[in-house]
Amino acid sequence: ELAFYILKEHLPPMTKIPESALQALRAVADPKSILPEDAWAPHLEEWRGRWPGETPLVLAPGSTEELSRIMAAAYAHGVAVVPQGGNTGLVGGGAAKGEVIITTKRLRKVRDVSPEGFTMTLEAGITLQEAQQEAEKADRLFPLSIGAEGTANIGGVLSTNAGGVHVLRYGNARDLALGLEVVLPDGRIWEGLNALRKNNTGYDLKHLFIGGEGTLGIITAAVLKLYPRPKDHVTAFLAVPSPEHAVKLLSMAQDRSGGQLGSFELMNAGTVDLVLEHFPDLPRPVKERAPWYVLMEFASGQKGILAQVAGGILENAFEEGLVSDGTIATSEAQARALWTIRHNASEAMKNDPSPCVKCDVSVPIASIPAFLRRADETVHGMEPGARIIAFGHMGDGNIHYDILGPKDGPHDAWRARMTDFEHSIHDVVVEFGGSISAEHGIGQLKRDELAERKSPVEMDLMRAIKHAIDPKGLMNPGKLLG
Ligand code: FAD
Repeated sequence: ELAFYILKEHLPPMTKIPESALQALRAVADPKSILPEDAWAPHLEEWRGRWPGETPLVLAPGSTEELSRIMAAAYAHGVAVVPQGGNTGLVGGGAAKGEVIITTKRLRKVRDVSPEGFTMTLEAGITLQEAQQEAEKADRLFPLSIGAEGTANIGGVLSTNAGGVHVLRYGNARDLALGLEVVLPDGRIWEGLNALRKNNTGYDLKHLFIGGEGTLGIITAAVLKLYPRPKDHVTAFLAVPSPEHAVKLLSMAQDRSGGQLGSFELMNAGTVDLVLEHFPDLPRPVKERAPWYVLMEFASGQKGILAQVAGGILENAFEEGLVSDGTIATSEAQARALWTIRHNASEAMKNDPSPCVKCDVSVPIASIPAFLRRADETVHGMEPGARIIAFGHMGDGNIHYDILGPKDGPHDAWRARMTDFEHSIHDVVVEFGGSISAEHGIGQLKRDELAERKSPVEMDLMRAIKHAIDPKGLMNPGKLLG
């Protein structure tokens, strides 16, 4: 009974929205919210340059109430909309194909910061970096951290359930939100901005919108969790002989650090080589080139004890042969430089002339070495010259398994084969009981694969939820569910 398809109810892509309907939206918007055409460019390009956008109108409402009026008008006139935050998403979720773009960039109020309650309430258009700074001003930590944090915003990171480098200790965006305010497709406002840590009153609706990629409504504000600020850090960049050794090191560090391990990132030699090639000013992290590297960070709320704890773990790791070489940062600046190597991986791939197959996948942590072996065999069986850039948040079982074409091209022939590579890697992921999207989401990139890989029951339930909240299929059509 649930197996209906909302697809046919969607506004077909590129259907021209009548001028009268656009006028109805303009009529309820503040004139300041109607962006002039010469300001549209950043909203029509996305980070990977893969999905060029097209739109008849870009609106940037300045308040939840104004957005509510705009959405009510869109609903009444059957106008499809695409929400946008910082537009850094990597799966084409914010790209418009003729729909009206609604950007949250003018929703920028800090509504509340409560150091005693360990919460802050921010509007959707505040960037992730600004959110971290707001927390810092109150001597608190907002731990979500991703490479795009200077541009990605609170609405976007919640809508994609972003992960990043501190999930191991603090969880992903879903774990960091206590309450949401959302404008629904018909313009109603769901005021779910509570700061409760316990609230067992039925379905937890916020979790539909977190990770919903703008297909159910537009997040306008959120209550976020804060934590005590760590007072001490130890950051180490280590050479390890293999992913097996890295798994053992992770397990040892978890066992012995008393919950003080904050990040555990794995990188293959190809990743570090590529970053150093494109960013030659960065320091070589260890003397000799190694097949694999780990970047780990311990953090403690107490000063003075961490050096001993982390030092003991690292000493033991050297003795047991889990680590062959390493650099332990002796200053904040050195720690930042080590992190920059990791954070510049995506940028380095973007700078490479070859288009990149990007597989953001997760498998159980203990299966990572076997997964990597099978994936490498698969890729090199298909193209011996392919360059594998494998890195990621190993502590969360999340590997960014990316593949660049042979250095000398030809790039067009490589581009034509990208989907085949992606599918083959996803087959390996499924073999290991993994997920084809660990943290970037589905968007357009993995929409068709999602339908193939999820069970019919799960797809039916997701479509039923979509239909219940967005019966006209006007919210970000063609994304996530198709
Ligand atoms: P956008 O790109 O604007 O939008 C993303 C999706 O959310 C779209 O579907 C859009 O329609 C929807 N959306 C946006 N705002 C709203 C809203 N207010 N309400 C409802 N829907 C909305 N991700 C990770 O998880 N971990 C990483 O470590 C990581 N590193 C990255 C590094 C780089 C260099 C880049 C470019 C991206 C990285 N990402 C990472 C991808 C990450 O998902 C996005 O950067 C971020 O979460 C999206 O935020 P945004 O504001 O840019 O959203």
